[in-house]
Amino acid sequence: MNKTAIITGASRGIGKASAYKLAEDGFIPVINYRTHKVEAEKIAAETGGFAICADVSDRIAVDNMIRETMKKTGRIDVLINNASISVSGLFMYITPEQEELIWKVNVQGTYNCTRSALPFMINAKSGKIINISSMWGQTGASCEVHYSASKAAIIGFTKALAKELGPSGINVNCIAPGVILTDMNNSYSEETMESLKNEAPLERLGKPEDIAESISFLASEKSSFITGQILGVNGGFII
Ligand code: NAP
Repeated sequence: MNKTAIITGASRGIGKASAYKLAEDGFIPVINYRTHKVEAEKIAAETGGFAICADVSDRIAVDNMIRETMKKTGRIDVLINNASISVSGLFMYITPEQEELIWKVNVQGTYNCTRSALPFMINAKSGKIINISSMWGQTGASCEVHYSASKAAIIGFTKALAKELGPSGINVNCIAPGVILTDMNNSYSEETMESLKNEAPLERLGKPEDIAESISFLASEKSSFITGQILGVNGGFII
C-alpha cells in the first residue's frame, strides 16, 4: 500500500496544490475539506486519493476522518495541518465570535488533527507532521492581529511537539509562507498586492505550487534529519 498523506483544507489554494504534488510523489492524498465538496472530489478523482468532509475544529468529525483514512489505507504517514481562516480588521473591531472561530479553526483544528492521527504514527514509530503557519506569525501583521497570533501559536506548537516526538521517530516541521496567490488574499486591493510584491526581494508573489514543493520536501525522506524547524517560503520578504 502506498504511503498516505492527510492534507487539511485541500479543496482550494495551497492544500489543493499540495495534494497534486504529493500524489506525483507517490502518496495517496486524503483531501480534507469543509464546504467545497465538488472541488474536493474532483481533486481526489484526479490524484487517486479520496475526499473527506470534516470541520477541523470539530473533534468528533476529525476522529471520524482519521478512522475512515485508517479503514481505507491502513496507515497515516504524513499529516499536513493546512486548513485555516483569516479575519481582517482592527483588533478592537473583531467580534468575540470571530475571535473564537479563528482560534478554534487555526489552533484547535491543528491540535485535533494531530491528537487523532498521532497514535497511528507512534505505533508505526514514524511519521511527518507539517504545520502551515505564516510569515505574519513571525513578524505580526497590523489589522490581522488574531490571525498573526494564531499562526505564532503554530510555531510554538511545532517546536514543542518536535521535542516530544523526536524519540518516537516523528518529524514535526512548519512552513511559514509569504504572500501566496490564493482566495485567502481576495480581500486585499490590487494596490496592496502590488506593494506586497515589491517588498519581497524576489519581486513576485508566491504561487500555491511554491509551498507545495516545500511540503513535498518535508514529507520526503530527504528531510529525515530536520525537525522543529520553521521554513520561510516568502520570496525573501522577511530575512
Ligand atoms: P484558502 O485558499 O483560503 O483555502 C482554505 C482551505 O481551508 C480550503 O480548502 C477550506 O475548505 C479549508 N478550510 C477552512 N476552514 C476549514 C475548517 N474549519 N475545516 C476544514 N477545512 C477548512 O487558503 P490558502 O491561502 O490556501 O491557505 C492555506 C494555508 O496557508 C493556511 O494555513 C494559511 O493560513 C496559510 N498561509 C496562506 C498565505 C497566503 O497568502 N495565501 C500566507 C501565509 C500562510 P473549504 O473551501 O472546502 O471550506
